[in-house]
Amino acid sequence: MVFSSGGSGSELDSFFGLLKRLADAFGISGYEDEIRGIVVDVLREYADEVRVDRFGNVIAAKRAGRGYPRILWDSHMDEIGFFVRYIDERGFIYLSPVGGWSERVLPGQRVRILADDGSLVRGVIGSKPPHLMKPEERDKVTPIDKLFVDIGASSREEVEKLGIRIGSPVDLDREAVRLAGTRVTGKAFDNRVGTAVLIEAFRRIDPREQDVYLVVAVQEEVGLKGARVAAQQLQPDAAIAVDVTTANDVPDVARQDWVAELGKGPVLKVADGRSASGLIANPRLLRLLEDTAKELGIPYQRSILPGGTTDATAIALTGKGVPSVVVAIPTRYIHSPVELLDLRDAVAAARLVEEATRRITPEWYREHLEEKKLK
Ligand SMILES: [Zn+2]
Repeated sequence: MVFSSGGSGSELDSFFGLLKRLADAFGISGYEDEIRGIVVDVLREYADEVRVDRFGNVIAAKRAGRGYPRILWDSHMDEIGFFVRYIDERGFIYLSPVGGWSERVLPGQRVRILADDGSLVRGVIGSKPPHLMKPEERDKVTPIDKLFVDIGASSREEVEKLGIRIGSPVDLDREAVRLAGTRVTGKAFDNRVGTAVLIEAFRRIDPREQDVYLVVAVQEEVGLKGARVAAQQLQPDAAIAVDVTTANDVPDVARQDWVAELGKGPVLKVADGRSASGLIANPRLLRLLEDTAKELGIPYQRSILPGGTTDATAIALTGKGVPSVVVAIPTRYIHSPVELLDLRDAVAAARLVEEATRRITPEWYREHLEEKKLK
């Protein structure tokens, strides 16, 4: 399919360069130092102001000043991972999950453990060779608390000497690479792709016409925490969160159960989560995004996500309430080491967020979103 919204070869190449730099970095929830350092480095170039708040969020601003609605853009920088839970006397390491893993994808993976001195120690998640499995074991999933990491050590002392202790953070050892055409795979595209999208949009936005606060939040995967803290500080007038959403356009999923497809453009989520725990997108902002996409010929998909939610849910419930929407990047195999997406969807999302924000003028805001005193 053809994208009229740009997405030239060199644009996709440079977007992938940024995405790879972000996705390959270490940064499980609560231990985001490496990824945060990269985000700060990149944003310093474009922002009027960049700071790291006490919670660890990066907040960058381009400010038109008074009279303009304060728009919060959010993505999260943290990725799911593990903590070291126990080290046995033979040097095998047991894990405690951080965020929602599917344990089925874990045996046979390589991991990196962040040691006390900041170095990354490599290991593998062991699995039983099929020759040793009893027939009834073969199609059983090993629960996470039974999985163990082998770093090649022979004793607990040897592990500890490398600076690994209970609580050491762990991520998966996986580099982002390009696949056929415009598709790419890697770890932590959830949500380093949203971060790359918003950095790209932020770079282009004009500070004379917009009051934009870009929040690259921590600890999303453990309860939308960083975004909540950031929104409380910033008290925005509206918010756009960019995150991944399930593309389940794969074999064995019936067409009516697809949430989104790769290569069909960014996803405008009408609603997500299950009733109480999710977001119902603000219909006026949703319409603005849709109208913007139509006007510019940017492809997009509308979608309802049955489970899972994003930072927008937490942001929407701060202060007097914040009208919020989500622009999502369709991604296959989310929360696995082989997340897979189409670069064209991401590049189109950056353009859509930038252009829609440009249309949130003071007049538009007053007419559509502002609190109304009726008497
Ligand atoms: Zn996630």
